[in-house]
Amino acid sequence: MEFKKNDLLTVVIEDMGHDGEGIGKAEGYTLFIKDAVIGDTVEAKIMKAKKNYGYARLMRVLNPSPYRVEPKCPCARACGGCQLQFLSYEKQLEFKKNKVKGNLERIGGFGQVEIEKVIGMEKPWRYRNKAQFPVGKNKDGEIITGFYAGRTHSIIPNRNCYLGAEVNEEILNQVIAYMTDNHVEPYEEAGGKGLVRHILIRNGFKTGEIMVCIIANGRTLPKVNNLIERLQTIPGMTSISLNVNTKRNNVILGDEVITLWGQETISDYIGDIKFEISPLSFYQVNPVQTEKLYGTALEYAGLTGKETVWDLYCGIGTISLFLAQEAKQVYGVEIVPPAIEDAKRNARRNGIENAEFYVGKAEEVLPQKYEEEGTRADVIVVDPPRKGCEPEVLDTMLHMKPERIVYVSCDSATLARDLKILCEKEYQIEKVAVCDMFGNSVHVETVCKLVRK
Ligand code: SAH
Repeated sequence: MEFKKNDLLTVVIEDMGHDGEGIGKAEGYTLFIKDAVIGDTVEAKIMKAKKNYGYARLMRVLNPSPYRVEPKCPCARACGGCQLQFLSYEKQLEFKKNKVKGNLERIGGFGQVEIEKVIGMEKPWRYRNKAQFPVGKNKDGEIITGFYAGRTHSIIPNRNCYLGAEVNEEILNQVIAYMTDNHVEPYEEAGGKGLVRHILIRNGFKTGEIMVCIIANGRTLPKVNNLIERLQTIPGMTSISLNVNTKRNNVILGDEVITLWGQETISDYIGDIKFEISPLSFYQVNPVQTEKLYGTALEYAGLTGKETVWDLYCGIGTISLFLAQEAKQVYGVEIVPPAIEDAKRNARRNGIENAEFYVGKAEEVLPQKYEEEGTRADVIVVDPPRKGCEPEVLDTMLHMKPERIVYVSCDSATLARDLKILCEKEYQIEKVAVCDMFGNSVHVETVCKLVRK
């Protein structure tokens, strides 16, 4: 039977795809259905029909899965942020575990891979310490803020995102009230006119410090004292700033930050290490799980105090400083110069003297240090971006032959590809842990310990 656009079908959802979409079959024809969960029987309408498969829209849940839950957020379906809010948290963790396992077995070619532990959150809500809210207008000309709908730039109004801190709602109310009262216009992407583009909020979960940064298409805000008066009464308010972004693109932040009130930065802790965070710094968005993730990386590194450790793709040195507490010497490598400045400052502030940082590409710095200076390593930790490690990095590690490699990954597909190369001859997988840093989304972090064969 031929299926075509707008056909209505009854589908039993038997599997879930990498983006969290439900997958089911109707008369042998495979359908991908966003927001349908494994175990559901749904009515779906075909939006796009290919020869052997199609994409359909969930119209009605006919028989809900035992794993289906009522989403907390009324915008769960429209918003692009959460893909798994309809699925019970336990089942989300199983989905993430299977995703990692499946990739290692299929792409990596490893036989049965055992996942040593799945580190879930105590509560997959209110865990994000950073949020960026776009500002715009609705059809009635009222100023709104919220989140972009999946894959678009239309704003779904929502000031109470359940992934962010509770106080964010009050902050957004105050900023929007300031704008409305003082006729401050939101920025319009299409015409490049208007002033306020985004509202960035960061919360130091351990310190209680709050940062609000208004991202504007200009260097000043009219009646700025009214904004400050409104915000400074919020308990924990520590830093209010303006970020200047006059470019006609969709990059959120510009390069210049002007402090309007209070401090330039806020501070927070991961473990016992204190970090200073500016509007522009990179900082892990889920500090509670980050501590567990890096704790696992540290455990897998098996340090006794005698080791020389390399931490590639080190960002602001979070992992490096964690490792430095138990290693003889740590070397961090990172491509972004301001992140390395932060890393050095963070080391100094915490009195850590056995960590050294280099700016550059891991695939250039590591081979150079090894070939020209004969640098060695007992342990190498890598935490690359989604695209994984460059072949030069893998190759140099194979020459350097550290006793252990700890691979921290935010994309298990590229992790599997890289492990296949490392484990061809020299290494074998000893342990794999899966850590959920992003509950209700499909993202997952993996830590893998490799030892020499
Ligand atoms: N481990 C860090 C951040 C890891 S995110 C932390 O926990 O804070 C990955 C990092 O790799 C980013 O900081 C990114 O800027 C950096 N990066 C990307 N490509 C790189 C390359 N080719 N060489 C070195 N660093 C790179």
